[in-house]
Amino acid sequence: MSGGYTLSETREIIKRFGIKPSKGLGQNFLTDKNILGKMVTAAELNQNDQVLEIGPGIGTLTRELAAKVGEVVAVEIDKRLVPVLGHTLKYCANVEVINADILTFDLKSLWKDHFTGRVKVVANLPYYVTSPIIMRLLEENIPLERIVVMVQKEVAQRMNAGPGGKDYGALSIAVQYRSRPSIVAEIPPTVFVPPPKVASAIIRLDIKDADLRCAVKDERLLFRLVRAAFGQRRKTLINALGSGLSSIAKEDLAEALEGCGIDRRRRGETLSIEEFCRLADYIYEKIM
Ligand code: SAM
Repeated sequence: MSGGYTLSETREIIKRFGIKPSKGLGQNFLTDKNILGKMVTAAELNQNDQVLEIGPGIGTLTRELAAKVGEVVAVEIDKRLVPVLGHTLKYCANVEVINADILTFDLKSLWKDHFTGRVKVVANLPYYVTSPIIMRLLEENIPLERIVVMVQKEVAQRMNAGPGGKDYGALSIAVQYRSRPSIVAEIPPTVFVPPPKVASAIIRLDIKDADLRCAVKDERLLFRLVRAAFGQRRKTLINALGSGLSSIAKEDLAEALEGCGIDRRRRGETLSIEEFCRLADYIYEKIM
């Protein structure tokens, strides 16, 4: 048996196992097969794929994935759901469930033990930890091909935003430094049990090969600059960087901005990723 669960099937399963969905763990179970289909289509899955699912819940998306790919590893924090998954996934021989917190679990050994190539992550994420999960996946240097996730709509917009708008910030740059995002669909609260308070969106992040990134000499410096530039959005760039990066003299920052052809009176939120990268490399090479 494969396929996701409808609203009444979901209610029946959680009732049968006596599960009260936990708000604290972001448990909003998806109950719409068309939307599961959109996630699976966006991930462009095939039988050779190895998939990591974060937060399988009662296994509705997991069953869709298991029918399409070679192997699924599903990491679920809530041990109450382990027997539910044992039931809903009993005919899915290509799924392994791991009861763990994805934020502290050793991802390098997860890869070593379970995967052989580049992995696709497909998940309906718990909204309270969306950004830390995405950042962890992007920063750990694990072989990834694509991430397709359901997130809060506002977070999807921030990941996808370009320079100049209110949504553009440190998350946009971190995501776009390592991937090409695209919003696949906006999703109303009504398709979840229980419904979340916010609208959702499916976002797809295609991981950039290392040679397609504007790879900087020092990534930590890049993200220090980004945090400083967005830390005080209403200040001019020179003032925001001056107060956010106290270890670099203001004259040096002014010289770096001029050397990169970036007007010091601009605001941080107008800088493209390429400009941030140029500035980081200039500071790394000529000032530090
Ligand atoms: N995949 C299911 C679905 O689509 O119906 C459930 C999605 S629900 C939004 C999020 C799931 O993530 C829940 O099952 C929750 O218990 C799990 N979860 C929350 N925090 C987690 C963490 N830190 N690590 C792993 N799973 C987590």
